[in-house]
Amino acid sequence: MRNKFLVFGSPLIEQPEINEVVASMKTGWLGTGPKVKRFEEMFAGYKGAKYAMALNSCTAGLHLAMLAIGIKPGDEIIVPTMTFAATANAVIHAGGKPVFADCERATMNIDPADIEKKITKYTKAIIPVHFAGRPCNMDEIMRLARKYRLKVIEDCAHAIESEYHRKKVGTFGELGCFSFYVTKNIVTGEGGMVITNKKEYTDKIKVLGLHGLSKDAWRRFGDQGYKHYQVVYAGFKYNMMDIQAAIGIHQLPRIDKYWQRRKEIWDQYNTSFANLPVFTPALPETNTRHALHLYTLLLDIDNLNITRDQFMDRMTKKNIGIGVHYIALHLHPYYRKTFGYKKGDFPNAEWISERTVSLPLSAKLSDKDIKDVIASVKSILR
Ligand SMILES: *Cc1c(COP(=O)(O)O)cnc(C)c1O
Repeated sequence: MRNKFLVFGSPLIEQPEINEVVASMKTGWLGTGPKVKRFEEMFAGYKGAKYAMALNSCTAGLHLAMLAIGIKPGDEIIVPTMTFAATANAVIHAGGKPVFADCERATMNIDPADIEKKITKYTKAIIPVHFAGRPCNMDEIMRLARKYRLKVIEDCAHAIESEYHRKKVGTFGELGCFSFYVTKNIVTGEGGMVITNKKEYTDKIKVLGLHGLSKDAWRRFGDQGYKHYQVVYAGFKYNMMDIQAAIGIHQLPRIDKYWQRRKEIWDQYNTSFANLPVFTPALPETNTRHALHLYTLLLDIDNLNITRDQFMDRMTKKNIGIGVHYIALHLHPYYRKTFGYKKGDFPNAEWISERTVSLPLSAKLSDKDIKDVIASVKSILR
């Protein structure tokens, strides 16, 4: 057994970003400054979007995206129940009501047929989540959006590299939100980015993300003389720091290298688990790029004599850190109490919630780490 605990989702941090953070600290420019601007330009270039705005999280991005499209109390926004809490909470903080839809078992992505069933006269938007990095069925989602005049905001927290029919995800809807949280495909510690092709959204998000100060407020500390600012909204404190961007500007150019490494790990897992009582992830759909953010194994608990939670305990005892993505939101106490959801409402998401376990997939993993993960899974499930 390995003697050192393998931390789930531990990022690969290299020397250039360490040097860059130190350099930022030495200049004294810790807050939002030139490195944030550079990171935004690099990210917009990578995604082929007109505008990119760096923020302190993807959650902040989702919140501001809701405000940018004008969500008001009483508006309903359709979100998958199979997602992280931030997707639904952003809707609630903007005053809207999250309405859950079920996912498909094979892709774990939101089921367009169930979206259509949940549409009412109050529905204003859909937030598809490209789960684990697998792009959602955007043809169908955009068709529904056109048919019912709904806005689409993409939660791309797992999906920086994802493409659907040669088009990068995050560019289908009005706005796309990305995360650089420590476990994500590239990291800034905490951090997020919103992309869009519309200037009106960009202007609104810049103002709302920095206390509601008028657009040019960030320039007031420059060397062109003091400028008064005006408060035009009751805004938020969501800006990214240069210290964070210092990490991002070195991580982003390595994104494909890290993806290649995760692909190797992914393929080894698939081959190694083929004959175990598990369901390995479905193959990526044709003409798409999967960002390979999470390797989710679905335990065939009907043919095993342990539960998912017992499996997790045993992996932890073997010093392997694992994750669960996710227990469907409608099963959590807050959403049950507030919106009246109950077990039985979303059969596919519940089926996944009971069986899913995420194995380590970071580009940081050594060959020995991968062997340890595989050997541990096999010894528990055989
Ligand atoms: C991580 C994550 C978020 C939130 O990202 P932060 O940058 O941590 O705010 C939102 N949605 C999904 C699906 C996520 O996995």
